[in-house]
Amino acid sequence: MIILKSPEEVARMRQAGRIVAAAVERLMEVVEPGMTTEDLDRIAADVIAAHGALPSFKGYRGFPATICTSLNDEVVHGIPSPKRKVIPGDVLKLDVGCIWEGYHGDSAVSVFVGGSPSAEAEKLVRVTEESLEAGIAALRPGHRLSDVGHAVQQVAEGAGFSCVREYAGHGVGRALHEDPQVPNSGEPGRGPLVKPGLVVAIEPMVNVGTWRTRVLRDHWTVVTADGSLSAHFEHTVAVTDDGTEVLTARGA
Ligand code: MG
Ligand code: MG
Repeated sequence: MIILKSPEEVARMRQAGRIVAAAVERLMEVVEPGMTTEDLDRIAADVIAAHGALPSFKGYRGFPATICTSLNDEVVHGIPSPKRKVIPGDVLKLDVGCIWEGYHGDSAVSVFVGGSPSAEAEKLVRVTEESLEAGIAALRPGHRLSDVGHAVQQVAEGAGFSCVREYAGHGVGRALHEDPQVPNSGEPGRGPLVKPGLVVAIEPMVNVGTWRTRVLRDHWTVVTADGSLSAHFEHTVAVTDDGTEVLTARGA
């Protein structure tokens, strides 16, 4: 069941989104070779706590950390570790969620560690971010929800990449994951009508090789089945009367 949000609820989610954006911005500023993914987790936890919010992911189905840190062929849900140092050339996915007054915000970025990515990594990350922008642009009152995934897929596959199918975006609100599912592929013009008050996390996961994935023995880390590079971007987006508002926008 899709739970549409009132303006008051969207206001709380706007604040959750701002705090998430602040944590993501801080991580993007400070990440450098030699840091561990646990260092990054602690920095995000500090930003969230300093704003009086709570982390969304810690304890979610037993997830042990504040953020997800996924490197290279890891797609999503990587667990921060004191043993995992980031090194130059890594493609690092940072996924952050927080709860403010009972409502969640959820956002992810892919960044290069050390500033000299391969041409392939640079293209993958750029295209994945563009696919998120296309997905957001397709989320309009009066459109159908599947227009979002279709737009994402057009951009990603148009550049020769593949969209992960086993994981999707989602409604967000009092729960981190609500209806509807927001796939990153599919035919346009299907699914629920997009209405004001709908709030969804759109989160393309794009791979250089196959879209297929598998889960490591830690039961969390999702990796590409063929070991190819993967990128991920995510924003929490509210549908308004005449368009959308990106609640997790950075630089706001
Ligand atoms: Mg997320
Ligand atoms: Mg999400």
